[in-house]
Amino acid sequence: MNRQEAMRKVGLSNKGRKPWNKGLTKEDDSRIRGVGNRKGCISWCKGLTKETDSRLMHSESAKNRIGVASKERWTNEEYIMKMACRKTNAGFTHTEETKRILRLAAINEWKDLELRKKRGQISRKLWEDPEYRDNIVSKVMKANGVKPNKLEIRLADALNNEFPGYLKFVGDGSFLVGGSSPDFINVEKKQIIEVFGCYWHCCRKHFPNIKDRDSIIRKQHRKDQRRVNKFKKLGYSVLIIWEHEIIDDLQSVIKRIEQWLN
Ligand SMILES: [Zn+2]
Repeated sequence: MNRQEAMRKVGLSNKGRKPWNKGLTKEDDSRIRGVGNRKGCISWCKGLTKETDSRLMHSESAKNRIGVASKERWTNEEYIMKMACRKTNAGFTHTEETKRILRLAAINEWKDLELRKKRGQISRKLWEDPEYRDNIVSKVMKANGVKPNKLEIRLADALNNEFPGYLKFVGDGSFLVGGSSPDFINVEKKQIIEVFGCYWHCCRKHFPNIKDRDSIIRKQHRKDQRRVNKFKKLGYSVLIIWEHEIIDDLQSVIKRIEQWLN
């Protein structure tokens, strides 16, 4: 869509609507006062040159200045965190070509150890912010339709930051192996990560007094073993992560996963 077409569309959609400032005076509305306040400030088109087709373009020197300033901003941790929390892409989806480029970029980033470390640090800091956490939680839930538990979401976020694009959460049933839905998978490398909740799967740490005669627990353990064996039979290596491991020390879990992946 070119600029003229865009302007025409905006004009059409605004037709018949009451202008936002109709009947307001400077005293009534801070937005009008705001216009006055901006008098004498640097114009939005400063540093632009006018071309024959009347479109405004950045001059070469302006482009350079913007590039340098932008690079500088992205070395500022606070700025990166701010940008990461913004919902700038609401309502937009990537084209297939963009997705392909992003996937490639993610693979390259994963190979960069320093960057991974830095992203990991930022991710850990971000995760302490409940607003960010809720945002991720709802995003993952929305994307999956099925409700993944908080544990899976937490690990999904950490995996995404440490190994971008490498392991995919398919616990929503979007990818089945032998009829079962694993939690995280890399199909090409045949690697599966399973997340077991302490209560549901009866971990040995929190339920140390499990007697083998306890039939319900025995049944669950047998069920889990069958599930893991099925994945293994189909050529997958399986890593089980327990809930208490994620809660106690996510960093060691990530380290373990890293060792297991290599
Ligand atoms: Zn446990």
